[in-house]
Amino acid sequence: MDTIDPVSFTRVPERITGLVDLAYNLWWSWHPAARVLFKQVNGQAWKESRHNPVRMLRDVPEEFLHRVAREWEYLRRYDIIMERYQEYMGRKNTWFTEQYPAVRPVTIAYFSAEYGLHHSLPFYAGGLGFLAGDHLKECSDLGVPLVAVGFMYSSGYLHQHIAPDGSQLNVEERLDRDSAPITRVLDPSGEHLTLRVPHIEPPIHVAVWKVQVGRVPLYLLDTDVGENSPEHRSISHRLYAGDREQRLLQEIVLGIGGRKVLSYLGVHYTGVHLNEGHPAFALVERVRERVSQGIDFEEALEQVRGTSVFTTHTPVAAGHDIFPYEMIDRYFQNYYRCLGISREDFLALGARPDDPGAGFNMTACAMRLSAYHNAVSKKHAEVTRQMWQPLWPGLPPERVPIDAITNGVHLPTWLNPRMEALFDRYIGAVCPYWQMEHDRPIIWELVNEIPDEELWRLHLWLKTKLFNRIREMERRTWADGSDTPENVIAEGVFLDPMIFTIGFARRFSTYKRADLIFRDLDRLKRIVNNPWYPVQIIFAGKAHPDDIEGQRLLKKVYEYARSDMFGGKIAFVEDYGERFAQYLVHGVDLWLNNPLPPWEASGTSGMKAAMNGVPSLSILDGWWPEGYNGRNGWAFGGEVVEGDRDAADANAIYETLEKEVIPLYYATDLHAVPHGWVKTMKEAIRSNAPAFSAKRMVKEYVHRYYPRILAAAGIPVIR
Ligand SMILES: *Cc1c(COP(=O)(O)O)cnc(C)c1O
Repeated sequence: MDTIDPVSFTRVPERITGLVDLAYNLWWSWHPAARVLFKQVNGQAWKESRHNPVRMLRDVPEEFLHRVAREWEYLRRYDIIMERYQEYMGRKNTWFTEQYPAVRPVTIAYFSAEYGLHHSLPFYAGGLGFLAGDHLKECSDLGVPLVAVGFMYSSGYLHQHIAPDGSQLNVEERLDRDSAPITRVLDPSGEHLTLRVPHIEPPIHVAVWKVQVGRVPLYLLDTDVGENSPEHRSISHRLYAGDREQRLLQEIVLGIGGRKVLSYLGVHYTGVHLNEGHPAFALVERVRERVSQGIDFEEALEQVRGTSVFTTHTPVAAGHDIFPYEMIDRYFQNYYRCLGISREDFLALGARPDDPGAGFNMTACAMRLSAYHNAVSKKHAEVTRQMWQPLWPGLPPERVPIDAITNGVHLPTWLNPRMEALFDRYIGAVCPYWQMEHDRPIIWELVNEIPDEELWRLHLWLKTKLFNRIREMERRTWADGSDTPENVIAEGVFLDPMIFTIGFARRFSTYKRADLIFRDLDRLKRIVNNPWYPVQIIFAGKAHPDDIEGQRLLKKVYEYARSDMFGGKIAFVEDYGERFAQYLVHGVDLWLNNPLPPWEASGTSGMKAAMNGVPSLSILDGWWPEGYNGRNGWAFGGEVVEGDRDAADANAIYETLEKEVIPLYYATDLHAVPHGWVKTMKEAIRSNAPAFSAKRMVKEYVHRYYPRILAAAGIPVIR
């Protein structure tokens, strides 16, 4: 029912017309060999398209397409890749079918407000989105039957530009829908499918789009349609609307509208997985559908609970939406009746027993309507059990039913292709199928067979690539006339690949403490400007436009980068996004992570860095208490601190850098291989890559919840 507008691609010669299909399946985003196929049509056009094959096929001069269609080397590669692609899409035997051979596939519907899949689809703000994107890619690889629902934000993506005074300017990108790897879902008459969100007054309509993520379809909702009033048209314009009411409307559309779209499309699914509380109304709508079929409310509630999983991602209060009851009344008047319960009973679904006056809490609602809950690291699970204990009166916090499934990252997405090729040479020589089972720790023992020299040379190459990338970005903004010379320096043109380099990149939220390392300026100056053992630090990250404190932090860091006191060795690179994150996690020497405990639920960038041989220096919060083994990086801050925590943590960072990290890095002459350092790199890869892969994570979700969902749905499980 969805379609690619074929007219615009008549320019692609018949012999290589498979490129069009391929361009519309994000499979290419985690298969480097497939990307090369586009790049080989024309390198410059590929670059101009910002590595977006749909745009490239539209914009590249036709002659280049005709040229490659006549080159036998190109066609040979094309045929092989297309065969691999078709084999992948049609594969009958997957990890999943091996696990559950006798069950007719039971599909899970996955709901998330954001997805980080590729920079050509800017539907994300940060960690939550990438986690969701990686989840879909891994489900596709493992053959887990999943359909996903989200939003098509048309003008929501904010690029960051830093003004000379360090203030953040937010430049909105309007998505060019016809150049993104996204298709319209059509109704039987060939029109763009548009549905009404059921039982919500005044009515809201959504149009439906689709992104194909390997084998997993992702349906995206779009309220920017003619049927809607101007206010309703803007519901899906931007990610996480600042206005409360607009935010509530988004969550109504995502949960109730999303559910409607799946049932209209005839997608049968038995379980629901909520990524964070934003889509909790999807569960309410599942209950309503059952009630409308004559099942009584309590029974319907039990059926929905038994087949629903809820993953909570943050202990930070701002991450949990609460809406005033009057606001809920405004949209759910009709809805209460459809559920067959009173207004009070409905509102009680979202109340916190310890603070019932606060309003309708989406996390409380998600917890109540699902039987399976999990946090995203062991530490986070402890914190979350404490936080939500009031929902289980009488239970001590340690018995509150919230599991820990620690996050993981999609290895083929975040592992640099050259690093992958290196692993393939040494790991693949012994375990040819290592890529399909990279969550098995034993395979990674083979990392120790890679000669230090080879790993080190590749690391230096990736580091140089990062610095070249920074210079190229600066050259462009300089040429635009949008930067002063001081800005160009602040943004990293003086960086030197021979110098030890620390990376720090994330959202500029207060709890992440981006400015912590500047706590004692004299000491930091001594460390950075040491003539024999110099240090560089690269910062990147955006502050939420409404987060004044985050923007103040960013400005402070930027001013240090601009000032001459650090001699150009501290840089702030603007517009952190998926693309630059790739360069950064592949190319720095050390990843720094110093949030204020216990606010980091997991953190995932350190995992991306580790698999590329970049160890972390991290506080013991989020994933690091599980990830750190004493040999694969550095840790601090595990103890309870009396008094000034910032001073103590900053001091721990300086001490560790001065006494352990920097001496290890510079233990040999600059041109020799630092064997001690490479040993830490290998240990980071060996110990962290399998354990913090999305493959391990998705398998854990499946093993833990899938059989229970089947049982609750009355489907016999034969394993
Ligand atoms: C991985 C990633 C994040 C999330 O990083 P955390 O360490 O989980 O805070 C945010 N933005 C981008 C671009 C990323 O790639």
